[in-house]
Amino acid sequence: MSTKNALRTIDMIRCAGNAAKAYLAAKHAAWDAHDQYGAAQAQLHHSHDLIHARGGSDCGSPTNPALLSAVQEHQEAEHTVGKAERRLQRAAITVQAHRPTLNRYPTGPIRRRATAMLLDRLADHPVDLIRAADLIIIQTSSGKDSIVAMHRTVAAAKAAGCLYKVRVMHCDLGSEWPGVPELARRQAERYGIPFLLVTPNGGFLGMVEKRQMWPDAKRRLCTSALKRDPTGPVITTWVRELGLDRQAYVLNVMGVRGAESASRARKTRLALDPRTTSANRLVLTWNIIHGLSEQEVWQDITSNGLEYHPIYDTGLERLSCVYCVLAGPEWLILATRVCFALELPHPQTFAELERRIGHSFKQDFTLNAIIAAARMLDALDGPITWRRGDAVRRHLGPVAADQYLALTR
Ligand code: SF4
Repeated sequence: MSTKNALRTIDMIRCAGNAAKAYLAAKHAAWDAHDQYGAAQAQLHHSHDLIHARGGSDCGSPTNPALLSAVQEHQEAEHTVGKAERRLQRAAITVQAHRPTLNRYPTGPIRRRATAMLLDRLADHPVDLIRAADLIIIQTSSGKDSIVAMHRTVAAAKAAGCLYKVRVMHCDLGSEWPGVPELARRQAERYGIPFLLVTPNGGFLGMVEKRQMWPDAKRRLCTSALKRDPTGPVITTWVRELGLDRQAYVLNVMGVRGAESASRARKTRLALDPRTTSANRLVLTWNIIHGLSEQEVWQDITSNGLEYHPIYDTGLERLSCVYCVLAGPEWLILATRVCFALELPHPQTFAELERRIGHSFKQDFTLNAIIAAARMLDALDGPITWRRGDAVRRHLGPVAADQYLALTR
């Protein structure tokens, strides 16, 4: 099966899934409408009996107040019956419209298995995938995994002769380490790819201030509201600019690795993004470095002389927000000591916000406690220091670090 046919089939299976959902919803709506119709009919009979009991007829003109109210009740019941009848008819038509579609397509588990199999095959042939795509978006955090994901995507796009399809996007939350957006731009410029900087309204601290709460692992609003949600409108704009008269195929590249966590290990190399996919675009999330280990990521960075953020040299393993709600206490303490060494205002800014909203940064401890621990360690051991290339030295040894420094001098 050709790559384009596989993409079309994936979309057809998606449409079949939507039709099955619509059929189920229409069936529920028909049952509801049927119940409402029955209740309205019962009310109509009741009001009819009432009129006769009060000595009138449902079409005659009422002469006393009791009869008048019974007639009004009867008219309202007639109106309700009419409405319920129309709703029931509409629901029945929808059910009929979806029934043949549903009968033509396989069940949910078969649909999911077929989609997974097609996606897996597509992921095996990145160059073909890129040729079939209309737009390739690299979402970069500027971190080490994003750099390698970008490098590998660009290499595959060049091999396919399709570098013109690639664009880079970075969301600046305003709470990351200094120099992150600038680094993202430089990384894109290295390959001559268009770069878009997105700055969500209020950023991370604005969102916390507004909600009067820090996000946590269960409610990661920082990633959903500040990183994922702004992506949809950007894709809409870029797809519109393509001016296609058919559905666009969009690859959304992310630097997600399976080795990072159990939940990331469950992700696949290529996945359908049902949230941003629509009739005019099929969006696939491409975790192009899903199978790489941390060691392999550093190997790629070193052998290709890719510029990484100096924060990795301090011993921090992630280029996240200065204070990440997912980080453990040891990383938060180290981040605080790095802030002290760089004379950054973040510890004070975050701790003040924590005091103001009265909600602890983490369930088990406050940022104040983290800052106190960092001060104590600085007092005992002195401020922390680091050298350029320490991240490579730590992961690959001194020889690799020397090679990297020679390559990036
Ligand atoms: S780095 Fe941490 S705090 Fe910042 S957006 Fe990501 S999950 Fe949220």
